[in-house]
Amino acid sequence: MNEHNDDELLLVEKHTNYIKDLFRKPVYLEHWMADHLKMNALYWGICALFLMHQEDAFKKEDVVSFIIKCYDNKYGGFGSAPRHEAHILSTLSALQVLKLYDSLDALSKEQKDKTISFIKSLQLSDGSFEGDRFGEVDTRFVYTAIQSLAILEELDKSIVDPAVDFILKCQNFDGCFGMVPGAESHAAQAFTCLGTLAICNSLNKIKNPEALEWWLSDRQTASGGLNGRPEKLPDVCYSWWVLSCLSILKKLDYIDAESLVKFILRAQNSETGGIADRPGNECDVYHTFFGMAGLSLMKKGDLLLIDPIYGLPTNVTKTIKKYPY
Ligand SMILES: [Zn+2]
Repeated sequence: MNEHNDDELLLVEKHTNYIKDLFRKPVYLEHWMADHLKMNALYWGICALFLMHQEDAFKKEDVVSFIIKCYDNKYGGFGSAPRHEAHILSTLSALQVLKLYDSLDALSKEQKDKTISFIKSLQLSDGSFEGDRFGEVDTRFVYTAIQSLAILEELDKSIVDPAVDFILKCQNFDGCFGMVPGAESHAAQAFTCLGTLAICNSLNKIKNPEALEWWLSDRQTASGGLNGRPEKLPDVCYSWWVLSCLSILKKLDYIDAESLVKFILRAQNSETGGIADRPGNECDVYHTFFGMAGLSLMKKGDLLLIDPIYGLPTNVTKTIKKYPY
Protein backbone atom coordinates (compact mmCIF):
# COMPACT_ATOMS: atom_id res chain seq x y z
CA MET A 1 0.00 0.00 0.00
CA ASN A 2 1.22 3.47 -0.84
CA GLU A 3 1.45 5.37 2.43
CA HIS A 4 2.36 8.71 0.87
CA ASN A 5 -0.30 11.29 0.29
CA ASP A 6 -0.09 14.11 -2.24
CA ASP A 7 0.95 16.62 0.40
CA GLU A 8 4.19 14.75 0.95
CA LEU A 9 5.02 14.55 -2.72
CA LEU A 10 5.65 18.23 -3.43
CA LEU A 11 9.46 18.34 -3.47
CA VAL A 12 9.80 21.49 -1.37
CA GLU A 13 13.50 21.17 -0.60
CA LYS A 14 14.40 20.42 -4.24
CA HIS A 15 12.31 23.32 -5.55
CA THR A 16 13.78 25.70 -2.97
CA ASN A 17 17.31 24.80 -4.05
CA TYR A 18 16.31 24.99 -7.74
CA ILE A 19 15.10 28.58 -7.29
CA LYS A 20 18.00 29.59 -5.03
CA ASP A 21 20.49 28.28 -7.59
CA LEU A 22 18.85 30.20 -10.43
CA PHE A 23 19.27 33.52 -8.68
CA ARG A 24 22.52 32.78 -6.87
CA LYS A 25 24.51 32.06 -10.00
CA PRO A 26 26.44 35.21 -10.90
CA VAL A 27 25.48 34.52 -14.51
CA TYR A 28 21.82 34.88 -13.68
CA LEU A 29 21.62 38.62 -13.80
CA GLU A 30 23.62 38.76 -17.02
CA HIS A 31 22.72 35.72 -19.06
CA TRP A 32 20.36 33.26 -17.49
CA MET A 33 17.14 34.60 -18.84
CA ALA A 34 16.17 37.03 -21.56
CA ASP A 35 16.52 40.55 -20.20
CA HIS A 36 12.90 41.43 -20.68
CA LEU A 37 11.81 38.67 -18.27
CA LYS A 38 14.21 39.20 -15.36
CA MET A 39 11.93 41.15 -13.05
CA ASN A 40 9.00 38.81 -13.82
CA ALA A 41 11.24 35.81 -13.05
CA LEU A 42 12.19 37.39 -9.74
CA TYR A 43 8.51 37.61 -8.78
CA TRP A 44 7.80 34.01 -9.87
CA GLY A 45 10.81 32.69 -7.93
CA ILE A 46 10.40 34.76 -4.76
CA CYS A 47 6.65 34.21 -4.57
CA ALA A 48 7.17 30.43 -4.97
CA LEU A 49 9.63 30.54 -2.06
CA PHE A 50 7.10 32.42 0.09
CA LEU A 51 4.38 29.88 -0.78
CA MET A 52 6.73 27.10 0.40
CA HIS A 53 7.42 28.98 3.69
CA GLN A 54 11.01 29.59 2.50
CA GLU A 55 10.84 33.38 2.68
CA ASP A 56 14.28 33.52 4.30
CA ALA A 57 15.99 31.82 1.35
CA PHE A 58 17.32 35.22 0.23
CA LYS A 59 18.29 38.28 2.24
CA LYS A 60 15.47 40.79 1.98
CA GLU A 61 18.01 43.66 1.67
CA ASP A 62 19.63 42.05 -1.39
CA VAL A 63 16.36 41.56 -3.21
CA VAL A 64 15.02 45.02 -2.34
CA SER A 65 18.24 46.75 -3.40
CA PHE A 66 18.21 44.88 -6.75
CA ILE A 67 14.66 46.10 -7.36
CA ILE A 68 15.51 49.69 -6.53
CA LYS A 69 18.39 49.47 -9.06
CA CYS A 70 15.74 48.67 -11.71
CA TYR A 71 13.80 51.89 -11.02
CA ASP A 72 13.59 54.05 -14.15
CA ASN A 73 14.78 57.53 -13.14
CA LYS A 74 13.57 59.10 -16.36
CA TYR A 75 9.97 57.85 -16.61
CA GLY A 76 9.25 56.31 -13.18
CA GLY A 77 8.20 52.65 -12.91
CA PHE A 78 10.60 49.73 -13.19
CA GLY A 79 12.54 48.09 -15.98
CA SER A 80 13.13 44.35 -16.17
CA ALA A 81 16.80 44.82 -15.24
CA PRO A 82 19.00 47.74 -14.11
CA ARG A 83 19.21 50.57 -16.68
CA HIS A 84 16.24 49.24 -18.68
CA GLU A 85 13.33 51.46 -19.57
CA ALA A 86 10.19 50.96 -17.46
CA HIS A 87 7.45 48.58 -18.64
CA ILE A 88 4.15 47.92 -16.91
CA LEU A 89 4.86 44.14 -16.58
CA SER A 90 8.17 44.65 -14.77
CA THR A 91 6.65 47.48 -12.73
CA LEU A 92 3.96 45.19 -11.32
CA SER A 93 6.48 42.42 -10.58
CA ALA A 94 8.73 44.90 -8.76
CA LEU A 95 5.81 46.21 -6.67
CA GLN A 96 4.62 42.65 -5.90
CA VAL A 97 8.04 41.62 -4.61
CA LEU A 98 8.38 44.82 -2.55
CA LYS A 99 4.91 44.10 -1.13
CA LEU A 100 5.91 40.49 -0.34
CA TYR A 101 8.82 41.80 1.73
CA ASP A 102 6.65 44.57 3.23
CA SER A 103 9.16 47.03 1.74
CA LEU A 104 7.16 49.49 -0.34
CA ASP A 105 8.68 52.22 1.83
CA ALA A 106 12.05 51.48 0.22
CA LEU A 107 10.69 53.76 -2.53
CA SER A 108 11.18 57.47 -1.90
CA LYS A 109 8.12 59.73 -2.14
CA GLU A 110 9.40 61.01 -5.48
CA GLN A 111 9.93 57.48 -6.84
CA LYS A 112 6.46 56.43 -5.74
CA ASP A 113 4.77 59.53 -7.23
CA LYS A 114 6.64 59.18 -10.51
CA THR A 115 5.71 55.48 -10.70
CA ILE A 116 2.03 56.35 -10.20
CA SER A 117 2.26 58.99 -12.97
CA PHE A 118 4.02 56.49 -15.25
CA ILE A 119 1.24 53.92 -14.81
CA LYS A 120 -1.56 56.43 -15.24
CA SER A 121 0.10 57.85 -18.37
CA LEU A 122 -0.27 54.45 -20.08
CA GLN A 123 -4.08 54.53 -20.04
CA LEU A 124 -5.69 55.28 -23.42
CA SER A 125 -8.99 57.06 -24.05
CA ASP A 126 -10.85 53.71 -24.50
CA GLY A 127 -9.82 52.64 -20.96
CA SER A 128 -7.16 50.13 -22.10
CA PHE A 129 -3.47 50.40 -21.15
CA GLU A 130 -0.31 50.28 -23.20
CA GLY A 131 2.62 48.28 -21.79
CA ASP A 132 5.09 51.11 -22.26
CA ARG A 133 5.59 54.19 -24.44
CA PHE A 134 5.68 51.98 -27.54
CA GLY A 135 1.99 51.30 -27.71
CA GLU A 136 1.15 47.55 -27.60
CA VAL A 137 -2.35 47.06 -26.08
CA ASP A 138 -3.47 43.87 -24.31
CA THR A 139 -5.83 43.12 -21.38
CA ARG A 140 -2.67 41.88 -19.59
CA PHE A 141 -1.55 45.50 -19.36
CA VAL A 142 -4.92 46.61 -17.98
CA TYR A 143 -4.62 44.00 -15.22
CA THR A 144 -0.99 44.80 -14.41
CA ALA A 145 -1.68 48.54 -14.32
CA ILE A 146 -4.78 48.15 -12.15
CA GLN A 147 -3.07 45.76 -9.71
CA SER A 148 -0.02 48.07 -9.53
CA LEU A 149 -2.27 51.01 -8.62
CA ALA A 150 -4.15 48.79 -6.14
CA ILE A 151 -0.89 47.90 -4.36
CA LEU A 152 -0.04 51.61 -4.24
CA GLU A 153 -3.65 52.34 -3.11
CA GLU A 154 -4.05 54.86 -5.91
CA LEU A 155 -7.13 53.59 -7.76
CA ASP A 156 -9.83 56.13 -8.47
CA LYS A 157 -13.02 56.34 -10.49
CA SER A 158 -11.42 58.18 -13.40
CA ILE A 159 -9.06 55.21 -13.95
CA VAL A 160 -11.32 52.33 -12.89
CA ASP A 161 -14.54 53.11 -14.79
CA PRO A 162 -13.02 53.26 -18.30
CA ALA A 163 -10.79 50.23 -17.55
CA VAL A 164 -13.84 48.18 -16.52
CA ASP A 165 -15.72 49.30 -19.67
CA PHE A 166 -12.80 48.17 -21.84
CA ILE A 167 -12.56 44.76 -20.11
CA LEU A 168 -16.29 44.14 -20.53
CA LYS A 169 -15.91 44.77 -24.31
CA CYS A 170 -13.33 41.93 -24.45
CA GLN A 171 -15.85 39.27 -23.42
CA ASN A 172 -16.90 36.90 -26.24
CA PHE A 173 -20.15 35.03 -26.92
CA ASP A 174 -18.64 31.82 -25.45
CA GLY A 175 -18.34 33.66 -22.11
CA CYS A 176 -14.53 33.89 -22.11
CA PHE A 177 -12.31 36.90 -22.86
CA GLY A 178 -9.72 37.86 -25.51
CA MET A 179 -6.68 40.18 -25.60
CA VAL A 180 -8.68 43.03 -27.17
CA PRO A 181 -12.36 43.31 -28.20
CA GLY A 182 -13.17 40.59 -30.77
CA ALA A 183 -9.97 38.56 -30.14
CA GLU A 184 -9.97 34.80 -29.57
CA SER A 185 -10.95 33.49 -26.11
CA HIS A 186 -8.00 32.40 -24.02
CA ALA A 187 -7.72 31.26 -20.39
CA ALA A 188 -4.89 33.68 -19.58
CA GLN A 189 -7.10 36.55 -20.75
CA ALA A 190 -9.96 35.22 -18.62
CA PHE A 191 -7.64 35.68 -15.64
CA THR A 192 -6.47 39.19 -16.53
CA CYS A 193 -10.05 40.30 -17.17
CA LEU A 194 -11.62 38.66 -14.09
CA GLY A 195 -8.71 39.82 -11.93
CA THR A 196 -9.20 43.39 -13.11
CA LEU A 197 -12.95 43.26 -12.50
CA ALA A 198 -12.40 41.75 -9.04
CA ILE A 199 -9.90 44.44 -8.00
CA CYS A 200 -12.30 47.08 -9.35
CA ASN A 201 -15.20 45.59 -7.37
CA SER A 202 -17.08 45.01 -10.65
CA LEU A 203 -17.44 41.22 -10.91
CA ASN A 204 -21.23 41.67 -10.94
CA LYS A 205 -20.92 43.31 -14.39
CA ILE A 206 -19.86 40.09 -16.17
CA LYS A 207 -22.41 38.94 -18.72
CA ASN A 208 -23.39 35.26 -18.76
CA PRO A 209 -21.09 33.99 -15.98
CA GLU A 210 -22.46 30.44 -16.45
CA ALA A 211 -21.02 30.28 -20.00
CA LEU A 212 -17.66 31.47 -18.69
CA GLU A 213 -17.71 28.88 -15.88
CA TRP A 214 -18.42 26.06 -18.34
CA TRP A 215 -15.79 27.32 -20.80
CA LEU A 216 -13.23 27.26 -17.95
CA SER A 217 -14.23 23.81 -16.68
CA ASP A 218 -13.92 22.44 -20.24
CA ARG A 219 -10.18 23.17 -20.06
CA GLN A 220 -9.48 19.95 -18.14
CA THR A 221 -8.04 17.24 -20.43
CA ALA A 222 -7.99 13.43 -20.03
CA SER A 223 -4.50 13.67 -18.44
CA GLY A 224 -5.93 15.78 -15.60
CA GLY A 225 -3.97 18.85 -16.78
CA LEU A 226 -5.66 22.02 -18.04
CA ASN A 227 -5.22 23.70 -21.43
CA GLY A 228 -5.57 27.37 -22.39
CA ARG A 229 -7.90 26.95 -25.38
CA PRO A 230 -9.90 24.12 -26.97
CA GLU A 231 -7.81 21.44 -28.75
CA LYS A 232 -4.51 22.51 -27.12
CA LEU A 233 -2.16 20.39 -25.02
CA PRO A 234 -2.43 20.63 -21.23
CA ASP A 235 0.15 22.86 -19.57
CA VAL A 236 0.93 23.32 -15.86
CA CYS A 237 0.67 27.13 -16.03
CA TYR A 238 -3.06 26.85 -16.80
CA SER A 239 -3.45 25.33 -13.35
CA TRP A 240 -3.15 28.98 -12.36
CA TRP A 241 -4.81 30.84 -15.23
CA VAL A 242 -7.93 28.62 -15.15
CA LEU A 243 -8.14 27.75 -11.44
CA SER A 244 -7.68 31.36 -10.31
CA CYS A 245 -10.73 32.28 -12.41
CA LEU A 246 -12.82 29.42 -11.05
CA SER A 247 -11.70 30.37 -7.56
CA ILE A 248 -12.74 34.01 -8.11
CA LEU A 249 -16.11 32.71 -9.40
CA LYS A 250 -16.33 30.30 -6.42
CA LYS A 251 -16.56 27.30 -8.76
CA LEU A 252 -13.32 25.44 -7.97
CA ASP A 253 -15.34 22.23 -7.70
CA TYR A 254 -15.94 22.33 -11.50
CA ILE A 255 -12.45 20.77 -11.87
CA ASP A 256 -11.35 17.29 -10.82
CA ALA A 257 -8.70 18.46 -8.34
CA GLU A 258 -7.26 15.04 -7.65
CA SER A 259 -6.25 14.35 -11.27
CA LEU A 260 -4.95 17.93 -11.72
CA VAL A 261 -2.78 17.62 -8.59
CA LYS A 262 -1.30 14.40 -9.99
CA PHE A 263 -0.59 16.07 -13.36
CA ILE A 264 1.27 18.95 -11.67
CA LEU A 265 3.27 16.65 -9.38
CA ARG A 266 4.24 14.45 -12.35
CA ALA A 267 5.70 17.56 -14.04
CA GLN A 268 8.22 18.01 -11.18
CA ASN A 269 11.85 17.10 -11.85
CA SER A 270 12.75 14.90 -8.90
CA GLU A 271 16.51 15.30 -9.50
CA THR A 272 17.05 18.98 -10.19
CA GLY A 273 13.86 20.36 -8.63
CA GLY A 274 11.58 22.67 -10.57
CA ILE A 275 8.32 22.05 -12.43
CA ALA A 276 7.92 21.86 -16.24
CA ASP A 277 4.98 22.78 -18.50
CA ARG A 278 4.11 19.07 -18.67
CA PRO A 279 5.62 15.80 -17.42
CA GLY A 280 8.98 14.98 -19.01
CA ASN A 281 9.80 18.50 -20.26
CA GLU A 282 12.49 20.86 -18.98
CA CYS A 283 11.66 22.90 -15.87
CA ASP A 284 11.59 26.67 -15.63
CA VAL A 285 10.80 29.15 -12.88
CA TYR A 286 7.55 30.28 -14.56
CA HIS A 287 5.96 26.80 -14.47
CA THR A 288 7.51 26.10 -11.06
CA PHE A 289 5.63 29.07 -9.64
CA PHE A 290 2.35 28.58 -11.51
CA GLY A 291 2.27 24.86 -10.71
CA MET A 292 2.68 25.69 -7.05
CA ALA A 293 0.11 28.48 -7.27
CA GLY A 294 -2.39 25.94 -8.66
CA LEU A 295 -1.63 23.51 -5.83
CA SER A 296 -2.07 26.33 -3.32
CA LEU A 297 -5.53 27.18 -4.71
CA MET A 298 -6.45 23.50 -4.24
CA LYS A 299 -4.98 23.62 -0.69
CA LYS A 300 -2.40 20.94 -1.49
CA GLY A 301 1.25 20.63 -0.53
CA ASP A 302 1.17 22.55 2.78
CA LEU A 303 1.63 25.82 0.88
CA LEU A 304 0.63 29.32 1.95
CA LEU A 305 -2.78 30.15 0.50
CA ILE A 306 -2.51 32.28 -2.63
CA ASP A 307 -4.99 35.04 -3.44
CA PRO A 308 -6.59 34.20 -6.83
CA ILE A 309 -6.99 37.88 -7.67
CA TYR A 310 -3.48 39.17 -6.93
CA GLY A 311 -1.19 36.14 -7.28
CA LEU A 312 0.26 36.90 -3.85
CA PRO A 313 -0.23 35.06 -0.52
CA THR A 314 -3.48 35.97 1.22
CA ASN A 315 -1.61 37.11 4.34
CA VAL A 316 -0.03 39.80 2.13
CA THR A 317 -3.13 40.82 0.13
CA LYS A 318 -5.25 41.27 3.24
CA THR A 319 -3.18 44.41 3.86
CA ILE A 320 -4.15 45.93 0.47
CA LYS A 321 -6.99 48.44 0.82
CA LYS A 322 -10.07 47.28 -1.13
CA TYR A 323 -11.53 49.55 -3.83
CA PRO A 324 -13.67 51.70 -3.60
CA TYR A 325 -11.78 53.39 -0.75
ZN1 LIG B 1 2.74 27.12 -19.78
